[in-house]
Amino acid sequence: MPASASRGFAPSTNLATQRGKNLSFVKGLKCRECGREYPKKAIYVCEFCFGSLEVDYDYSKIKSHLTREIIASRAENLWRYKELLPLDGEPTVGLNSGFTPLIRAENLARILKVKELYIKDDSVCHPTLSFKDRVVAVALSKAKEFEFDTVACASTGNLANSVSAQAAKANLKRFIFIPADLELSKVIGSLVFHPNLIAVEGNYDEVNRLCSEIASKFKWAFVNINIRPYYAEGSKTFSYEIAEQLGWKAPQHIVVPVAGGSLISKILKGLKEFHKLGLIDEPKTRIYAAQPHGCSPVVTAIKENNDIIKPVKPKTISKSLAIGNPADGYYAVDTVRSTGGWAEEVTDSEIVEAIKLLAETEGIFTETAGGVTVGATKKLIEQGKIPKDESIVICITAHGLKTQEVLLDHLPKLVKIKPNIISFEQIFDKLNG
Ligand SMILES: *Cc1c(COP(=O)(O)O)cnc(C)c1O
Ligand SMILES: [Zn+2]
Repeated sequence: MPASASRGFAPSTNLATQRGKNLSFVKGLKCRECGREYPKKAIYVCEFCFGSLEVDYDYSKIKSHLTREIIASRAENLWRYKELLPLDGEPTVGLNSGFTPLIRAENLARILKVKELYIKDDSVCHPTLSFKDRVVAVALSKAKEFEFDTVACASTGNLANSVSAQAAKANLKRFIFIPADLELSKVIGSLVFHPNLIAVEGNYDEVNRLCSEIASKFKWAFVNINIRPYYAEGSKTFSYEIAEQLGWKAPQHIVVPVAGGSLISKILKGLKEFHKLGLIDEPKTRIYAAQPHGCSPVVTAIKENNDIIKPVKPKTISKSLAIGNPADGYYAVDTVRSTGGWAEEVTDSEIVEAIKLLAETEGIFTETAGGVTVGATKKLIEQGKIPKDESIVICITAHGLKTQEVLLDHLPKLVKIKPNIISFEQIFDKLNG
């Protein structure tokens, strides 16, 4: 269990009243298990049942404020849904994050023999090309409201990139903890922002355990530990956007990559909230979990119909999904089960093939997590788990430039010629044939 919730630190809890105007629609925090209520502080565990805390909104107040027209009139970033995000004032960090394209994937659909296929493409999320820019925008804006001067995270890579970048822009001190064996591009993509980057000789689960201890001693905003309830809310914007971009309609099927299990459960929460607010009809969306074969505790629990998630030791090229003991694993399983979805896992070579398939058909370069999601979608369609004539959204969560090394031995040979026409003509026939 993580450190006691009472150690949570919030230098200023009455900021909204100080400003004289409370813009917030947030009632407080609430235990996901026993329902006990807590004030808005940098805490994350229920003191009574050790359940995780979640942000609790005043939905009837939001409903009287928020319409499709108001949302549609706002700037194209995730703050267009600000009433459903856990700030007391206006956002200060990540002002350009979110509202990534939802792309009709006609070429890939033809190959998978399905009628209506979309890619939600967070490989182009601002500023660090992954969906983590959404959660970090919310977490750091909240950390600023709490008046923290230092932010931190335990990361499998993409979170490290995003906290490093957005904390630099927000003038926050930053401590980033990563497993020592991370991809070079993810290390460089953090270091360039000059954080205190600490490579821990261990896997993510060991990094995370260490960070929980650090979080209980140092008065920092650990985005995925003591301010996790706020951080996690950022993921909801992924499904708000899908619904809005489909013309205020939920898709019938969504395939989601799972690491800690937060994104998948917040995608469902987002759709349910949109329905509660009258923005969409009741969603009948089935949600599917995708994990790499070398780290698939959630997929295994779903397939074996277990309630308990057995932790694993990750061994996969999909390092961004390599969490062997997922914090929200239980909720991920519950999301899949309660929506009538399913789950699938993908081997390392299937991940590489799927990265290439998406690139060659849709012109989108995704990292290994996207390979997992595309590969799992292909299997679920082939197995008949996802019907061919219904709407399907594949969640692409980060860019391929971040994990280029996995492709090195799997691409066509580079053609080199002398700078003259004869050299070109010599290879032209070969290329054509
Ligand atoms: C973190 C991450 C995920 C999964 O997020 P969880 O909320 O931890 O399940 C998916 N894709 C990528 C690329 C990520 O970095
Ligand atoms: Zn509780």
